Amino acid sequence: MARVAVVTGGSRGIGAGIAKALQAAGFDVAVTYVGSARAPGAFQAETGIKAYRWDAADPAACEEGLKKVVAELGPVDVLVNNAGIVKDGFFHKMDWATWSAVIHTNLDSMFAMTRPVINGMRDRGFGRIINISSVNGQKGQMGQVNYSASKAGVIGFTKALALENARRGVTVNCVAPGYIDTDMMAGIAPEVLSGIVGQIPAGRLGKVDEIAAIVAFLASDAAGFITGAVIAANGGQYMAG
Ligand code: NDP
Repeated sequence: MARVAVVTGGSRGIGAGIAKALQAAGFDVAVTYVGSARAPGAFQAETGIKAYRWDAADPAACEEGLKKVVAELGPVDVLVNNAGIVKDGFFHKMDWATWSAVIHTNLDSMFAMTRPVINGMRDRGFGRIINISSVNGQKGQMGQVNYSASKAGVIGFTKALALENARRGVTVNCVAPGYIDTDMMAGIAPEVLSGIVGQIPAGRLGKVDEIAAIVAFLASDAAGFITGAVIAANGGQYMAG
């Protein structure tokens, strides 16, 4: 039987690319979305991948939603914690709501989604948890204190959980993308975007498929000795500052 993979925030952007790559690698894939943008009808029609609607940062909703996925597809072997948001602004002007929305969605979702699946993975002796961080969680970014804190938190979560589960056949890794061409970037003013691209040694934004391929590899049997890693894919931006 095919292994089952769940990708949070998989209705569009990087998550949709990851879902397609995992499907191509032979996994039975489910994606989640929250419904803030548009219904993932086109994505479902194109791929046949079922999309489930729930808030990836709400523990009770995750318990319920994952029960449904397990009933329909089977136990979860691969979890990709991809769902994330930005709410940018300088910290000296930031309010609590802007801070906590980003920490809640990006970091609480790690607990809410992972806690219901971890014991099954440990019991079965196989699991792959792949968390999407960001270059800005590694190096910090002006105007993104909330986002950078949440994505640095994802790295700590990954490393500690990797240690706890290494002997149980469960690997836990992180991918830290640089700027990737998705809806998340579409909100950035063109003059700001061209400044960002100017700081990327590769001279371009990354592509969704370039992140999806890393995740598909980390989900594979071949990646069984990789755990607690942070795989950076940022066109050299981290080194450039
Ligand atoms: P998009 O904004 O294009 O898509 C975000 C996805 O997450 C959507 O499917 C959205 O669902 C879903 N989502 C958001 N909040 C929730 C929630 N509470 N529960 C469930 N699903 C949710 O983002 P990207 O594809 O650009 O980014 C994906 C990940 O990669 C994020 O974690 C992001 O921080 C990270 N990243 C992105 C970079 C980039 O340059 N794009 C760079 C580095 C990291 P819906 O469609 O319903 O809104």
